Amino acid sequence: MLKACYSDRYFAPTKSKSMEKLTAIALDLTARSLVELIEPKLIDPDLLRQLHNPALVDAFMVGERPLATLQGFVWTEQLRDAVLCIHAGQLLATEIALKEGIAANIAQGFHHASYDYGSGYCTFNGLALIAQQYPDKRIFVLDCDQHGGNGTAEFAELLPNLFNFTIFGLRFGHCDNERSIGRLIPRVSGNFTEYQQALEEGFEHILNWETDIIIYQAGVDCHQLDPFGSAWFDTESLYRRDKMVFEFAKRHHIPLLFVLAGGYQELSQLVALHVNTFIAADEVYFPRSASVNT
Ligand SMILES: [Zn+2]
Repeated sequence: MLKACYSDRYFAPTKSKSMEKLTAIALDLTARSLVELIEPKLIDPDLLRQLHNPALVDAFMVGERPLATLQGFVWTEQLRDAVLCIHAGQLLATEIALKEGIAANIAQGFHHASYDYGSGYCTFNGLALIAQQYPDKRIFVLDCDQHGGNGTAEFAELLPNLFNFTIFGLRFGHCDNERSIGRLIPRVSGNFTEYQQALEEGFEHILNWETDIIIYQAGVDCHQLDPFGSAWFDTESLYRRDKMVFEFAKRHHIPLLFVLAGGYQELSQLVALHVNTFIAADEVYFPRSASVNT
C-alpha cells in the first residue's frame, strides 16, 4: 500500500484554507484504505537555516513581522508547528520514496518560497529542502501546479543537484535559468495535447539528467473549475496527467515522491481531485492481482 506522510498537526486555520484540505484528504484516503499514514515529528529548524536565510527562519520561529507573515498567513504557534511538521514529513516521505520507489506527503511543495522570504502561501521551500538535505542525489522537481515554480527556480541556481521543470498557465514570476525550465500552456487557447508534449519534454530532461528522485507537484489548480484554472483542463485530463507521470517513473525505476500543490475550489470538489492523484498512483504502483480474490 502507498505510504503517505501526514499528521493532525499539519492543520492550522488560514485564509486560503490550504491546510483544511490536507485533513479532509487524509480522512478520505484513510476511509478508502488507499494509503498507510506515516506520522512525522517536527523538523529541526537548523535544517531550514541551512536552506534559507537564517533571518527568515529565526523570524518565523517567533512570529516576528514582516518576515514571518510575508507568505500571506497570520502567524500563530499552531501555524508554525504545522509548517515544521509538514517539512519533517517532506524529508520522511523522501526517505520512504528512495527506499520503496513511491511515497507521498499530504501537503504542498511550497514552490514560491525563495531564499530570503516566503510568498504565495509558501513559507519555506519544501522541494529545495530535499536537494539541500540530499547533496549526493540528483533531485528533479516536476512541477505541475498552475503557477510557475519561481522560488524553486531560484534555489536551482544555488543548489547544483536541483533541476526544476515547471509547466504552468500562470507564470508567477518564473524565469528560466540553467537548471530551471518553464513551459507556459495558455489557459484559454492551450489544450491537453500541448500539455502532454510539455510533460514528455520534462521526461526527456529527467532521463538526460540521470535523476535519482522525482518530486512531483501534482497541483490541481489547473482544473477548469478552479479560480486559477485552464478552460480545457478537465478532471479526466488531470487523471491522465498523473498516470503519465507515475507510469513514466515506474517504467524507468526512478523513485518518486508526490505532493499535492495548489487547488482552490470548494473542499467538496477539491478533495475528490486530489484523491484522484492517489488513485492513479495506487493503480500504477499497486495493481490488484487478478488472483487476489480467487
Ligand atoms: Zn498554484
